Amino acid sequence: MNSSPDILIIGGGVTGLTTALCLAQDGASVTVLDRQRPGQEASWAGAGMLPPGNQAGASTPESRLRAYSHTLWSQLSDDLRSRTGIDNGYRICGALEVSGAGGYESATETWRKEGITVEICDRATLEQYVPDLANDFQSGIYLPEFGQARNPRHVKALLAACHGLGVEIVEGVTQLQLIEQGATVIAESPERKFHAQKVCVTAGAWTNELLRHVRLEFPVFPVRGQMAQLRVSRLPFSCVIEQGRRYIVPRADGLILIGSTEEHTGFDKQTTAEGISGLLEFARTLVPELGRAELVRSWAGLRPGSPDELPFLGKISCFDNLYVGAGHFRSGLQMSPGTGRIMADLLLGQPPAINLDGLSVDRAFINGSPLEG
Ligand SMILES: Cc1cc2nc3c(=O)[nH]c(=O)nc-3n(C[C@H](O)[C@H](O)[C@H](O)COP(=O)(O)OP(=O)(O)OC[C@H]3O[C@@H](n4cnc5c(N)ncnc54)[C@H](O)[C@@H]3O)c2cc1C
Repeated sequence: MNSSPDILIIGGGVTGLTTALCLAQDGASVTVLDRQRPGQEASWAGAGMLPPGNQAGASTPESRLRAYSHTLWSQLSDDLRSRTGIDNGYRICGALEVSGAGGYESATETWRKEGITVEICDRATLEQYVPDLANDFQSGIYLPEFGQARNPRHVKALLAACHGLGVEIVEGVTQLQLIEQGATVIAESPERKFHAQKVCVTAGAWTNELLRHVRLEFPVFPVRGQMAQLRVSRLPFSCVIEQGRRYIVPRADGLILIGSTEEHTGFDKQTTAEGISGLLEFARTLVPELGRAELVRSWAGLRPGSPDELPFLGKISCFDNLYVGAGHFRSGLQMSPGTGRIMADLLLGQPPAINLDGLSVDRAFINGSPLEG
């Protein structure tokens, strides 16, 4: 074990592992702690959708981080494949957005303002992308630059790449406590103390539970998302289909993900009959043929929610060595390449590649108190 690494990362989801990877590439010594095997929480459970971005047209905190991450996905995936031999399933697959009631003007304008290609579809065009789309849908929009990755493969690749670069991964660390030592923070489990020059908490939905140990109340909270997985022998379409906050994501090997619910049920990861049956009905409403698909399994994960649905990235000003990267809500996979690079830069005292206004940790504390959740 590193007796005292430069950086200690607590939480080995995509946020923590991508940060560790970037730090190790820059020559830092890094230890990642997780209370279980890394990459088994939201980062495993997610659908892997990667909306497009364009740095030249990005003018909001969300679009800046999305666009920066979009520029990094292809290169990160190639790098992971060459380091580990693992293909994370990254590909550009396109996405169709349908509503049933039309009204795509505002979405189209937003994407176009960002400089992102959008195609307005009539029924005939919709059928080119999804031949079996239900007749209720007569129009929609298509985003050709939308991508996807396969979460379990991506976290496996990140973990292997981190190992390969000498990152120390300590799994199964239960009952971890953050302890104040003057203006710095250390971590301690019943078995050992973990000292580091800098401590970075990337514990997803559990971030606030850890920060409470050092008297901080941080507005990151769990939002349950249930998911159903189907299998078909012949993939009826290759693009993602979205309607509102729900979606269908086809994988190249015939597996199809249907997601997802948004539920405020604390740290409960159970699936429910209502949640899963609602998703299956949703899928059938869009593509009736999916009613005949094999139901493979279902699961739920806990998104790290935040009041404005944006992550908190940076140093906590009341401590000399404590950093946080958490609260990515529905976009943590898509935003992980940019987040990892930004957190590594901040931890190494380098300027981040994008303007972090609207993404900083300071906005969690207004006049010393946390934001309303
Ligand atoms: C159903 C669903 C669908 C989603 N779909 C998408 C999508 O299509 N695209 C997208 O971009 N995002 C999606 N998301 C969101 C995305 O998955 C998350 O934002 C992202 O995975 C958060 O990553 P994370 O590393 O911050 O947290 P997590 O992946 O939750 O990782 C946190 C880690 O911290 C560890 N930990 C927690 N507490 C402690 C402790 N006390 N001590 C030590 N370790 C601890 C946990 O074990 C875990 O490994 C989806 C999420 C869900 C649930």
